[in-house]
This record gives sequence, structure tokens and C-alpha cells, in this order.
Amino acid sequence: MTDTLLTEIDQRREDLIRLTQDLIRIPTLNPPGQNYRQICEYLAARLMMHGFQVEFIRAEGAPGDSDAHPRWNLVARLEGSAPGDCVHFNSHHDVVEVGHGWTRDPFGGELDGDRIYGRGACDMKGGLAASVIAAEAFIAARPDFRGAIEISATADEESGGYGGVAYLAQQGRFSPDVVQHVIIPEPLHKDRICLGHRGVWWAEVETKGRIAHGSMPFLGDSAIRHMGAVLHQIETQLYPLLATRHTAMPVVPEGARASTLNINSIHGGEPEPEPGYTGLPAPCVADRCRIILDRRFLIEEDLAQVKGELTALLERVKAERPSFQYEIRDLFEVLPVMADRDAPVVRSTAAAIERVLAREAEYVVSPGTYDQKHIDRIGRLHNCIAYGPGLLHLAHQPDEWVGVQDMLDSARVMALVLDDLLAP
Ligand SMILES: [Zn+2]
Repeated sequence: MTDTLLTEIDQRREDLIRLTQDLIRIPTLNPPGQNYRQICEYLAARLMMHGFQVEFIRAEGAPGDSDAHPRWNLVARLEGSAPGDCVHFNSHHDVVEVGHGWTRDPFGGELDGDRIYGRGACDMKGGLAASVIAAEAFIAARPDFRGAIEISATADEESGGYGGVAYLAQQGRFSPDVVQHVIIPEPLHKDRICLGHRGVWWAEVETKGRIAHGSMPFLGDSAIRHMGAVLHQIETQLYPLLATRHTAMPVVPEGARASTLNINSIHGGEPEPEPGYTGLPAPCVADRCRIILDRRFLIEEDLAQVKGELTALLERVKAERPSFQYEIRDLFEVLPVMADRDAPVVRSTAAAIERVLAREAEYVVSPGTYDQKHIDRIGRLHNCIAYGPGLLHLAHQPDEWVGVQDMLDSARVMALVLDDLLAP
């Protein structure tokens, strides 16, 4: 029976290539959120031919949703011949901006040897295509399967997922009584099971000063000098401290197994001049200076502690600088999530990887966040992993590509998971 299933996959090689190319040729750029309806309709037409019921769901009122750029999502469901679990494949259909440095057409879907090129090829239209082929092959080989298969294509993962998976989870679409197993075919590579991701806290810190003439800075109070003191504390106290914190989460790459902090931006003093302005700036003491911090934290850390650590640092600066005033604004926060290694979808995927690739699955955790957070936190469904073809370091890069053989192997793994969880 397994052989029949794997043969069904191999027979779909050309179909898989065409499907991936077609998906890449629909430019679903985010921002602003282009062609979401079009890609949902393309997939719906295909899945309906295989018996799926489809629903188009617009995330009305979600961030970014507008009549010009509606946040469309597709959920397709196929019922089996008897009651049983539902296995859900969730892929985001949006892609990030193209950027510079391409030598291929970013929306051409060009096939060259084993590689298909294009924006979103690896993140994650290749994974979406692999899951569609896996489901179609499984249905052909096992028409009497029990339970249900769902395939969703969702909006806005690249901008937080609020118009996509978060919205669907709020509608109860990822409740454990509706869906029991979720695979997100993000490009973690065909032999790796991604159990979850680290936490995120973005914050803006502002130091305050008093404006004065630049020739008499003693009459003012420089917010930039205050920020310099803050940065000095971050450099000499916080960075060494974070480097000592290591997680038991199997994060890849290994550098991300410590707590990390990035200072995304800094701005102080007068606004940047308009492009093309040729005059000199005015001489002023800066009365405000802002930085944006991107703190990634570990499952062993507590968000309140992460925030408290920064406040304590700012208070230390304040103790040394009498006129120092600051403000912290929370911008974004996500708690770490990690599926249990004994969860059914994890065990099933590990066994399938071993059968298809003849090697043990590697368990990893992503340094950055993805839609699993919404399924875990809002949906309260913890039996969820990321598993899919493609190399993570190619995501968001010029000349992004996905390997045809990697997609085929991943599709084989996904089909075996379906067979394990839904066999009659
Ligand atoms: Zn992605």
C-alpha cells in the first residue's frame, strides 16, 4: 500500500512543477497584500476538482484589510468515508518584497535543472504545492480514508498573520474539536521537524531632553547623549548577560540558542531632510531620541522578566543622570511555543521521514516566529509543527529557489503522515 502511495506521488512530478510555477506567477506581495483573492481562487478551482469543499474567508477589519487590498483566505476541506481525525496543512500565500540583486524573473517561476526560481518559491509556495500534491496522491491511493483533510492558504504571515491564521483561529478554525493535527509546510528542510519558535518582544525606547541652540548646548539637555548612556549600558551589561542564557530548545542556527537583542533603528534630533534637500540642518540640541529594540527570548525566560530587565537598566541610567527621562512603548509581543516531541503529528512525521529518507528526523526550533503561535495560543491546538521543503536561508533572498526533488520527498513524507493518521 505504501508503494502505491509513493508511486502516486512520483507520477505527479510534472504536475508539482507546474503547480509551483503557477503559484509563483501570482505575485502575492505583502505589503500591500496583492492578488490574495486570485491565488485563493486558483487553488480552490484545483481542490474542488478533487472533491474539496472550499470557503473564502475575508479577515474583515484585520490590520491591512481594505477594499483595495482585502485579506482573503482559503480553507478547503474533504471529508473521508468515516469519522476520524482531521489533518490540516496550513500555508501562507503571501510573499515579501522582491528587493535587489535578482538574476531571474522573480515572478517567472523559471525551472532550471532541479530548481524552480521566484519570490516565494521556498517561502512557501513550494511547501504549499507539496502539501496539495501529497493530499491528492493520498486521496487517489486511499479513497476510503477516514477523518478529514484540510488545506488552507492564508494571508499576511509575513506581517504577523493577523489577517490570516490569527483571524481563522479566532473563528474557531483551529480548535482541537475541529482540527487535530496541523502541519505548516514552511521551508525548514525535508528532514527536519520544526517544533516551534522563540518569543519576541519589540519595544520603542525614547529618551527625552530639552531643545536649545546648538551653540549653547548647556542651556538644553541632549536626548542623544542620554541615549548614548542607555546604549552603553546595553553594550556593557545587557549583551554579556544575554549571551550567558542558553536554551534547551533545539534552535537553528545554533547562535540563536542564546537570548538575542537587535537594535533595529535609532533616531534622534531633527527629522531626516527630504531627499534632494541641499540646505544645512538647523543647529539644535536634540529633545528626543528613539530606538527600536527587537528582543528574542527563550522558553526558559518569562516575558515580564524580559521587560523588567530593560526597565531596571533604564533605572540604573536614571540614577546616574539626574535629568534623565525615558518612555518605553510595547510594539509587539509573541510568547515562545514548542510542540511536545511525543505529540502525534510529531511522531508520525518522524516515522515518515525515516521511511522516505532513510535517516532520523532532526528536531529544530525556529529563531523567528511564524503562524504556529496563533494556532497554539488562540486555537489552543498544540499538536502542530512546521515541516516542508526548502532551505530557510534562501527565504526573503534574491534568486530564491526550491528544489523539485526536495518538494517530492516532502510530499512523500506528508502523504505517509496522512496514511498513518487517516488510514481506514
Ligand atoms: Zn514563510
